[in-house]
Amino acid sequence: MSRILIVTGGSRGIGAAAARAAARDGWHVVLTYRSGKAEAQVVVDEIVRLGGTAEARYTDVAKEGDVAALFDHVTEQYGRLDGLVNNAGILPPVSCFEEIDLARWTRTFSINATGPFLCCRAAVGLMAKRHGGEGGSIVNVSSMAASLGAPNEFIDYAASKGAIETLTVGLSKEFGVDGIRVNAVRPGLIATEIHASAGDAARVERLASGVPLGRPGSAEETAEAIIWLLSDASSYVTGCLMPVSGGR
Ligand code: NAP
Repeated sequence: MSRILIVTGGSRGIGAAAARAAARDGWHVVLTYRSGKAEAQVVVDEIVRLGGTAEARYTDVAKEGDVAALFDHVTEQYGRLDGLVNNAGILPPVSCFEEIDLARWTRTFSINATGPFLCCRAAVGLMAKRHGGEGGSIVNVSSMAASLGAPNEFIDYAASKGAIETLTVGLSKEFGVDGIRVNAVRPGLIATEIHASAGDAARVERLASGVPLGRPGSAEETAEAIIWLLSDASSYVTGCLMPVSGGR
């Protein structure tokens, strides 16, 4: 049986690229979408056309019931989970700090930090040796914003990524003994639709010259780092926060 992987936010961007790369490497991919049902099905169809296996499930990662339903499905269908990529996330509009209201702060944290918490909690229940599991690998998608702070842009987003990084380090220490490795990637400026979703489609082009490698990264380049951290090739790596940022 293939190893079973959940990728949240697999309908587009980095999540879709990670789902495709994982299927190429033999994982059975359960990818989730929230609004992009048709886009998620396109990713599944591409994977199947290339000889892989995948399925798409609706999940709002900010909703405890949705996350429970996702993991119940995996438990009933496969009885195991080997990998989790916590990729789903939002980028709020560019704003100075004093204009961030509580509703926006709460929404950003619900999706970017509480979502990964809910998914990690459900995943360790299936993976941990103390619960009869066989271990596994979790990769959280953070951002360079966690250390840069995103002043004058989105400090709330940066703080939510700081939370996912602390979650990564803590889980790696608590569940190493259970055979679970927990790592994070820290993408820099990656050319996806997230910037247009935040109302700033020109952001990538505007900031690209400030990247030491002189260009934005792609979803596929980010996915390769995720796949390496998921795989046995990184078997002695845990608690790592890996920049995928062109040196930014
Ligand atoms: P994207 O193209 O906007 O894709 C975001 C994905 O997250 C979509 O599949 C979307 O699903 C899903 N999503 C959003 N809210 C969700 C929710 N409440 N529940 C479930 N799924 C939800 O973004 P991306 O650039 O690929 O970003 C992916 C991750 O990388 C995010 O965590 C982001 O913070 C991080 N990141 C990106 C960059 C960058 O420059 N692009 C840099 C650093 C970090 P639907 O479309 O189906 O709603």
